[in-house]
Amino acid sequence: MRQLGGRVHALKTFHSFLNARSMGYRGGISSPLSAPDACSRLSAYLSYGCISMREVVQQTRAHMAEMPQQASRHRAGLAAFTSRLYWHCHFIQKLESEPEIEWRNMHQGYDDLREHDFNVEYFEALKEARTGWPMVDACVTMLRETGWLNFRMRAMLVSVAAYPLWLHWRPVGEWLATQFLDYEPGIHWSQLQMQSGTTGINTTRVYNPIKQAQDHDPYGKFVRRWLPYMRPVPDSWLFEPWLMPDQQKNKLGLSCHITEPLVDLASATRESKQRLHARRKQPDTIDGKKAVIDKHASRKSMPSRQKTSSTKRLNQSQLGFDF
Ligand SMILES: Cc1cc2nc3c(=O)[nH]c(=O)nc-3n(C[C@H](O)[C@H](O)[C@H](O)COP(=O)(O)OP(=O)(O)OC[C@H]3O[C@@H](n4cnc5c(N)ncnc54)[C@H](O)[C@@H]3O)c2cc1C
Repeated sequence: MRQLGGRVHALKTFHSFLNARSMGYRGGISSPLSAPDACSRLSAYLSYGCISMREVVQQTRAHMAEMPQQASRHRAGLAAFTSRLYWHCHFIQKLESEPEIEWRNMHQGYDDLREHDFNVEYFEALKEARTGWPMVDACVTMLRETGWLNFRMRAMLVSVAAYPLWLHWRPVGEWLATQFLDYEPGIHWSQLQMQSGTTGINTTRVYNPIKQAQDHDPYGKFVRRWLPYMRPVPDSWLFEPWLMPDQQKNKLGLSCHITEPLVDLASATRESKQRLHARRKQPDTIDGKKAVIDKHASRKSMPSRQKTSSTKRLNQSQLGFDF
């Protein structure tokens, strides 16, 4: 179920996106149900060099220039896609500027935060799709089969690893690097650190896997596709199936598949956020933040809303400090 390699497939994928699929880009990239079609799917081809970044940017601009004025949805999709191409280069530049971020915290004020607490059993359960949260386990299974996941689900996996499971980003990143067909160190290691809160310059983003399932897979189509044991689970128990009464589990033959999650999500997440925020408030950590901003944050200043087009605004704000 993996994408096929080579330039012919790269061009075919690119043209189907430019001509049609990009119409679903805005609004389609967050759900793991729509994302496989709505996203460009160019990442592996870019990583392996089957297609070049210049080629993609120039052809996309040429295509947009020829589009009729009324094609606003299509244009918006391609504009949002183009902004991601800027991010690609922005992230690769971070690693070029500081190659050490592949193995040590971008902000060293976060050293020794998670390093000595690594729970091997949690890590093994995550890799084997046995966390107990159906959305997480379905994503790990999809990744294993296809080598690809959309951005939001990648971020959710890392967030679950980093907060409720309190796993250090480095082993998690090494494992994911072997799973992603599009492994690109520049993007990968910065994202791992951002989603784990160790860059010191990004807002803490914690993705709740139960809420992600409610928002992006409300009818359980995704989890039922990738986790066959979820198919007989009634809709009312889709998001927290472990709460189903034992009698019902036994009747449906689910007792050996459906287990309590590894940790209590709410309390484990609360505790890890407190640990991170306590570190964030320390004077040394506050002092160290400026050096990270000087080295890694975008040099572009935030534009005033009136003067800039929406596309340019999107590009610039997402390259800013808070991305
Ligand atoms: C923890 C984590 C690890 C990631 N590791 C990788 C990786 O190893 N390789 C990789 O290519 N992407 C990585 N990404 C970014 C993103 O998830 C993928 O680029 C995207 O899902 C690839 O699918 P696509 O080509 O259809 O994306 P589209 O949405 O169509 O985007 C087009 C291109 O823009 C670039 N891009 C998209 N999103 C981002 C982003 N957030 N940051 C930087 N560039 C971006 C990619 O080159 C992508 O091919 C990671 C994200 C997270 C949260």
